[in-house]
Amino acid sequence: MAGEPQDDCLFCKIVAGTIPATIVRETDTTVAFRDINPQAPTHVLVIPKAHHRDAAALAAEAPELAADVLRETQAVADQEKLESYRTVFNTGSGAGQTVWHAHAHVLGGRGLEWPPG
Ligand code: AMP
Ligand code: ZN
Repeated sequence: MAGEPQDDCLFCKIVAGTIPATIVRETDTTVAFRDINPQAPTHVLVIPKAHHRDAAALAAEAPELAADVLRETQAVADQEKLESYRTVFNTGSGAGQTVWHAHAHVLGGRGLEWPPG
């Protein structure tokens, strides 16, 4: 069911603490941790603690939680002292989504090309 922890979900395991992560921020509803395969000097993932399969499902099922995630991307940028940064929600395998628990990538600390690849 939407919002419930999923036994086979990597990010639910990070929320539960059964898989380690380098956590940089935590709130009542969100966790932010460093991406294991960073694509920029700062590459942090912000996730809702509750399980929603992607950003679109999160926005539809729990809009206030979606706002919490978005607010936390700015808090990560402030904490990492990023003047410019990019927030990315890969949605669907064709766009590069590999983990089916909604997450925002916060990328910064280098110049970022536009359009992305
Ligand atoms: P996406 O491809 O948008 O679904 O993003 C998933 C991200 O999760 C990728 O950038 C991975 O490098 C990252 N990732 C996968 N496993 C872990 C982990 N155990 N800890 C931190 N980041 C991870
Ligand atoms: Zn999950």
